[in-house]
Amino acid sequence: MIDINILVIEDEEKLLNLIETYLIREGYFVLKASNGSRGFDLFYDNKVDLVILDLMLPDYDGYEICEQIRNFSDTPIIMLTARSSIDEKLNGFSKGADDYITKPFSPRELVARVKAQLKRYNRIIKDDIYKHMNFKFDSSTSSTYINNENIDFSPGEIKLLYYLILNKNITLPREKILERVWGEDYDGDIRVVDTRIKRIREKLVCAKVRIVTVRGIGYRWEEE
Ligand code: CA
Repeated sequence: MIDINILVIEDEEKLLNLIETYLIREGYFVLKASNGSRGFDLFYDNKVDLVILDLMLPDYDGYEICEQIRNFSDTPIIMLTARSSIDEKLNGFSKGADDYITKPFSPRELVARVKAQLKRYNRIIKDDIYKHMNFKFDSSTSSTYINNENIDFSPGEIKLLYYLILNKNITLPREKILERVWGEDYDGDIRVVDTRIKRIREKLVCAKVRIVTVRGIGYRWEEE
């Protein structure tokens, strides 16, 4: 089971802690930020699977944060706000928020929405099947199929493949891939990433999916 990290950006300490309690109870890992700039730092430095974002923060407007995150990531974002007019909701969605919840809310409702968003983004490993064109990846059994035929990948290749799929359509820097797939303690040559990508590509040659090379940066699993 891959850890699911949820970043909560909220300046009301009581509410922040309450949300944390409920999320931990569900087995999620929680990263807490009480202002926008701390939130950005945590977002850049961690693999974040979902963001819960307060609209009114001491340093940033939640919309700005939402917009900035959307420039390079499709991580689900749930906005929290005391405002409830429909215009605000529309504004939130146009900036790229996936869901919106108005204060006061029940923590249970928030948890339900978190689950719904995670499921939608295929970010839960259990029983989840990723399918695109003639390619299928079953994360519960780590099996890969092309045209319903099982393709043999090594455990290391599966780990990398799954990491790319989880972040589909997002460019992943090679350094980040190395850290997430090989582990923080690995201090070998970064070219192992390229070698493993090459091997995966060779096996995917008949699949209608592709791993794009982003020159000077890294790789991206691309769905058309
Ligand atoms: Ca606030």
